[in-house]
Amino acid sequence: MKEYRGYIFDMDGVLYRGSKPVPGAAETIERLKKKGRKLVFVSNNSTLSREDFAEKIREMGLPIEEGELLPATHATARYLAERYAESGVYVLGALGLVKELLLAGVRLTQQPAKAEVLVTGSDPDISYRKLSNATELLLRGCPWISTNADKLYPSESGMLPGTGAVVGALQYITGREPVVIGKPSAPIMEQALEMLGLPREECLMVGDIIESDVLAGRRVGVDTALVLTGVTRREDVEASPVKPDYVIESIAELEV
Ligand SMILES: [Mg+2]
Repeated sequence: MKEYRGYIFDMDGVLYRGSKPVPGAAETIERLKKKGRKLVFVSNNSTLSREDFAEKIREMGLPIEEGELLPATHATARYLAERYAESGVYVLGALGLVKELLLAGVRLTQQPAKAEVLVTGSDPDISYRKLSNATELLLRGCPWISTNADKLYPSESGMLPGTGAVVGALQYITGREPVVIGKPSAPIMEQALEMLGLPREECLMVGDIIESDVLAGRRVGVDTALVLTGVTRREDVEASPVKPDYVIESIAELEV
């Protein structure tokens, strides 16, 4: 394996599964940090703020700082703050997303008539009213930004509907397409690279889903390593049109 100065790690399926850390994950992160490598941790999770995530990570004993975390909630807030700082934003999403948007100084409104931009994420309290409000904005031609468009969300109790439950419904109803921030789209990866501040050829993306993590890495021109502790199996790699640069059993096998 080539030597890299920067690493972008996906979290779920790479560092932990559910609330259990992958054996050797903490040691590998520590080793990388001791060697002066720069690390960013990305996730498509659209319900937890950076602060929520930091707490979850600390409970698992992983040596990661809040400032190294880039969940889709935070990435979406950064994207909005850069482009729509003056606009009224309507959110169909969870509290973690709202928290990040407020921290970034985004102007939120609950009134669809006053809103100019729609932001979507997973929402455990999705309702007909919220879908109606979002539909109104989209039919009016407002820009639509989504944390991600994942169909399924792997939880400890099995597969659950992901943000795709919201995105798919709105696409079907209105024929509109959102700007997607999370993997496999480029925006979250571009932000991760900005945080690392290194040339892309010196960075490695490490993830467990070939169509999400590896594709995301490819799209922004960084090398990719697939770990087999999550969703994608070794036999899936053969069948996939997207190929990672490296396939390793787990994060513990990263050569550093
Ligand atoms: Mg993952």
